[in-house]
Amino acid sequence: MSDKSIVLENVDLSLGRGAARVHILKSVSLTVGRGEAVGLVGPSGSGKSTLLMTMAGLERPDSGRVTIDGAELTAMDEDALARFRGRRIGIVFQSFHLVPTMTALENVALPLELAGAGDAFERAASELRSVGLGERLSHYPAQLSGGEQQRVAIARAIAPDPAILVADEPTGNLDETTGGSIVDLLFALKRERGATLVLVTHDTGLARACDRTVRLRSGRIEADAASQAA
Ligand code: ADP
Ligand code: MG
Repeated sequence: MSDKSIVLENVDLSLGRGAARVHILKSVSLTVGRGEAVGLVGPSGSGKSTLLMTMAGLERPDSGRVTIDGAELTAMDEDALARFRGRRIGIVFQSFHLVPTMTALENVALPLELAGAGDAFERAASELRSVGLGERLSHYPAQLSGGEQQRVAIARAIAPDPAILVADEPTGNLDETTGGSIVDLLFALKRERGATLVLVTHDTGLARACDRTVRLRSGRIEADAASQAA
């Protein structure tokens, strides 16, 4: 297997229709190594979320190529892409995106069931224990704190054992202490499972914790360097 986890080549991407169409990503090329942690930073509106969603196969470029673990996402049809995403890519959002009518256990089991796992609920329970929520299996999202909801979202993202984990401002809606524990959790999981981690953050401490920082400006990569030691 290649040591390249994520490869973007000359990616251009626009969103919106007609006069509202915006050219967001401009000739973005980027390679992320297997097991590497990359912090994606830059001003608001610079295209960080769009770039992250492009890596995760949720946005399709107008042109250019996206390859994950040697598989070219940009050559897949929607069904193949959805299957690939479900098995190989874990996604964590700032606002958690849990299904409100499902318990913590059901939320985490959902992607496992979709992937056809026979033991979806056992594995979901074990993932929830590993993020410290063994006592919250039958709670609904509204009955959980923000930090707990983010832990459920992380358990859901990692349950299928994805090769890459992407997180869009995962601590953006949390207080500093809770955010810190979420960061520790993400890095612990990355270390234990050898997953590649790409996260968008405004937090310079968090960016420094990554192996490398990629800075976007107006849809272009402005800087890409090993993170400075604290
Ligand atoms: P960031 O995460 O760095 O704040 P985004 O990737 O969310 O930036 O957005 C980059 C730019 O693209 C912004 O100017 C935003 O307004 C625009 N944009 C995002 N989504 C859409 C969309 N669906 N249609 C049109 N423009 C969009
Ligand atoms: Mg964003």
